Amino acid sequence: MLPASILAGLPTFTGAANAAGLVPAFRGTPRLAVGGIASECSTYSRIRARLEDFTVRRGQEIFEAPLSLPLLRYDVPFLPTLEATAPSGGPVERKTYETLKADYLERLKKLLPLDGVYLMMHGALNVDGMDDAEGDWYEATRAVVGPDCLISAYYDLHGNLSRRAVDTLDAMTAYRTAPHVDRVENVMRAADMLTHCLRYGLRPGIVWANIPVLLPGEQSSTEWEPGRRLWADLSEYNRLPGILDVSQLVGYVWADEPRAAASVVATGTNREEQTRIVTELANRYWNARHEFKFGSPTGTIEECLSRAMASPTHPVVISDSGDNPGGGGNSDQTFFLQALLKAKARNVLLGGMTDRPATKACYKAGVGATLPLSLGATLDPAMCQPVHVKNAVVKHLAPVTRPEDGEAVIEFDGITATLSARRRLYHSAESFRDLGVDPAQFHIVVLKCGYLHPTMKALANPALMALSPGAIDQDILHIGNHRRKPTWPWVADLSWTPTPYVSARFRRG
Ligand SMILES: [Zn+2]
Repeated sequence: MLPASILAGLPTFTGAANAAGLVPAFRGTPRLAVGGIASECSTYSRIRARLEDFTVRRGQEIFEAPLSLPLLRYDVPFLPTLEATAPSGGPVERKTYETLKADYLERLKKLLPLDGVYLMMHGALNVDGMDDAEGDWYEATRAVVGPDCLISAYYDLHGNLSRRAVDTLDAMTAYRTAPHVDRVENVMRAADMLTHCLRYGLRPGIVWANIPVLLPGEQSSTEWEPGRRLWADLSEYNRLPGILDVSQLVGYVWADEPRAAASVVATGTNREEQTRIVTELANRYWNARHEFKFGSPTGTIEECLSRAMASPTHPVVISDSGDNPGGGGNSDQTFFLQALLKAKARNVLLGGMTDRPATKACYKAGVGATLPLSLGATLDPAMCQPVHVKNAVVKHLAPVTRPEDGEAVIEFDGITATLSARRRLYHSAESFRDLGVDPAQFHIVVLKCGYLHPTMKALANPALMALSPGAIDQDILHIGNHRRKPTWPWVADLSWTPTPYVSARFRRG
């Protein structure tokens, strides 16, 4: 549940267009469906997302998700179908996607006739053998609901768009912050457009400019320049006549597929104004491409480690950025652990190693036991070698009811490490304190993350980012680039001017 204070602050739908003198066009209550599928899939990962990796909410369960709660504030009921989300990771197994899609479509059909569909998406879904899974989902949706139904989509800032997706949607909006702190606002932007247009009989459309620029995810923060200024004024455009939303997407660089790129998208009813805006913003983004940079000093694992060991201040918080599960990394790589042991680093907290067999062995042995463990490389043995520890002491075991939720804290060779049976984020100070570990007490804290969570940022003294190898290698010039269209920075001297694209639905009016 969202806190009551947040719920109380959410407006109920009242129809903002009253101020513009619009007259409600809809007689009766529109029929709106809600559903979707979201994940962020690195094509550089050998892991596959299967059904058990998804949180699937069916029917009314959808409203148990915090991000669906704002929909309950509208005076138009949203009719639930299926919503599936999986943590960032590798591509989705084809069979899993088809199973989820069939279930969703079946539920959608039962709700017909529909006036609108609100879809909770991400934009970086990759399915085995399919380049544009979101486009496929939208086309399947459109085939069920027909040409007159409005479809509005919710996107992450790190989503990729295709002409197929744009041609099928009527409205879309994306986060305006990274780290993403405007999730609730994003829900309401997407839902507002839908309810507003239905109430006043408006048929919105999308104008899109695709920008051939891709950035390492950790450079795309809106907390520092140029991200801060590039996203700061987007909401100002909503004041212009006929403009409902202007969104700007960084894209998802770890998808080696033709659609991967940055985008500017304007939703509205004023094609000329939307075209002018996306042209202006796409040029602005393109011209700022050289300014993007990491938010903390970077280096190789060894460089960061030697700097940390020599640091007079602590804790030195180092991001093992290539293995960050928050962006699609495996979280089972051992490159950093190997370097720690080789350098004989002491007083170290190593957070977030996923290893189900080792976690299970810790539960079997119990708190206080000493046991030999093989650590890491269980999800992708081809990426790196496991590390064999002779004497690991089990310090803490989280009380859980399902083995797959297990979390253990172990100590060996001057290192305290958290182990997890499944891929999960250990980015915040709370995620460690919940396990009885205080990150502030260590000289070095190694996290499988990118830019730091605010609670870690407050502790870090200093913060460093290791450009480590992995499924989301931040050193993007050296990742495989086989299927993308010509894109900066791989094509350093690329010349480009925006070519705004008016969606097929908008062109037809
Ligand atoms: Zn994102």
